[in-house]
Amino acid sequence: MCGIVGFVGAEPAAPVLLDGLRHLEYRGYDSAGIAIFSPEHGLDVVKTKGRLQALADLLEGGKQLEGCLGIGHTRWATHGEPNDVNSHPHVSEDGNIAVVHNGIIENYMEIKEFLISKGIHFTSETDTEVVAQLLEYYFGKSGDIMAAVTKVLHRIEGSYALGILCSSNPDQLIAAKKASPLILGYGDGCSLIASDVTALLKYTRDVSYMDDGEVAVLSAGGIQVYNSMMEPISKEHAHIDWDISAAEKGGYEHFMFKEIMEQPAAIRKTVFPRVKEGRVVLDDLSITKEYVQSLKKIDIIACGSSYHVGMVQKYTLEQLTRLPVEVVLASEFRYCDPIVDDKTLVIVISQSGETLDTLEAMKEAKRRGARTLGIVNVVSSSIARESDDVLYTWAGPEIAVATTKAYSTQLALLDLVGLYLADLLGTVKPEDYKSAIDEILLLPSKIENVLADKETIQYYASRYFNHDSVFFIGRNLDYALGMEGSLKLKEISYIHSESYASGELKHGTISLIENGTLVVALATYSPLFDKAMSNVIEVKARGADVLALTTVSHKTSMEKIANGVITIPDTIPMLLPSLGVVPLQLLSYYIALMRGCDIDKPRNLAKSVTVE
Ligand code: GLU
Repeated sequence: MCGIVGFVGAEPAAPVLLDGLRHLEYRGYDSAGIAIFSPEHGLDVVKTKGRLQALADLLEGGKQLEGCLGIGHTRWATHGEPNDVNSHPHVSEDGNIAVVHNGIIENYMEIKEFLISKGIHFTSETDTEVVAQLLEYYFGKSGDIMAAVTKVLHRIEGSYALGILCSSNPDQLIAAKKASPLILGYGDGCSLIASDVTALLKYTRDVSYMDDGEVAVLSAGGIQVYNSMMEPISKEHAHIDWDISAAEKGGYEHFMFKEIMEQPAAIRKTVFPRVKEGRVVLDDLSITKEYVQSLKKIDIIACGSSYHVGMVQKYTLEQLTRLPVEVVLASEFRYCDPIVDDKTLVIVISQSGETLDTLEAMKEAKRRGARTLGIVNVVSSSIARESDDVLYTWAGPEIAVATTKAYSTQLALLDLVGLYLADLLGTVKPEDYKSAIDEILLLPSKIENVLADKETIQYYASRYFNHDSVFFIGRNLDYALGMEGSLKLKEISYIHSESYASGELKHGTISLIENGTLVVALATYSPLFDKAMSNVIEVKARGADVLALTTVSHKTSMEKIANGVITIPDTIPMLLPSLGVVPLQLLSYYIALMRGCDIDKPRNLAKSVTVE
């Protein structure tokens, strides 16, 4: 969601900014712009609605603007429609200060009214413009940009990552952060900021992660960071060692397809180093047996697909640990006066580790005394740094907006956590523990089998891609799996899709089933296979066209009733969603492809959701 890049160095900034913004495109955006400062022309701003290519065309790839100091932005509109004027950067009325912003200034209305009363004119509908105008207002009083920044940061409320240029400070870029991510890059003769390390890798692997309340002043020679009291501090540096090609398509048509295909390898990385001599070893976890035995419940907090991982894990963790597990949407948890205390383990799940709702919900849980465990993909991200314990999924960079390998690795990692906790609690039989470990180790190769049969899924996609409405049904783990299958389909193919617990059909939804309605019936969960069959018969009786997903051992029975059957290998119940999700991801992918959708960057969506 939204991308910020800033550069100060000895070479022209515009091509560097364009290249950086290209690496942030996956985050989702609706407009793009850059501001460059040059001693000859002062501040120049070019911005436009639409894709980055439109901006690059306007700039002729960056040649249009001179100057070695600049900021760039891809906007995901929150306040004001996506149009040229509302695009960032925003410039103060006197043209002296330019700002790019990720986040939301919650008290922007009050500040805007104040500034209007002082005679300042606004051009955009955004919350961001108040930052540029307020900076000008305070700068006008003191002539000191740092003093103005301090005053502005005290006055604004909400979330922000900010990149600021002031033409009175022609060699410096100022950055500030609260609740939205911002990373500093220490280059050779240049300094950079970006929302994500992928935008920096071409210039440096030496970075630091800004913390809330910090302000940084960047110049070609280095970066000085200040804490919220404006005292100079020195930041820890991190070295990024992953291969830049991991964030590139490597011959695949789409990142999503590449990431679906990477799942066996990603799960191997997540799981194999954590299983030693038949036992789960979570060295990075500092919780004790006494603590686990003192627990009264587990809460899982997440959004989107991570929430669906939580739904699966409610069944699995409860089964394994016999502790009650509550799964709560982060955006709801924050404001529901949650009942958590030091007897609650709060597990927060986020691919990026920057999901704002999840981060804030986690802080709320901590305030109430709970211990928090982050399940995160991006190393050193905010949730990783702020949770009491963190376990990384090691899925490698995930670029497509629709998550696939992050979902799978989160599931697999939490399966290990479940076994680990159950072992400490003594709630799992040794033979069940052993067979779970054996099966987890087989998971990557079983997923490879599913992927090898992708042509079958492609065939079903060609049969069903013209449907406008789809229902996913299932019970227990299949219900949780259906939630993810349905989300995948709607987010990338724009087909209206709903997911229901099969038992709920008769309480309302079945009235929507008519001749030809596509129902994806999930029937992988063996203990309830007969019930799943009954539900298939029920919807078929109302005219539904049923595409069923089941295990190899139930294929023959299902083929007698359903219109189409996709199979996955048999495994223990807790691992069925890990196999079942793969054909559902492929089905969505092929359907979206056949409908001509922008698969990696679906409309209105963003990868890393850093606003509330
Ligand atoms: N709230 C700002 C706007 O709507 C920034 C949005 C973003 O993070 O891209 O312009």
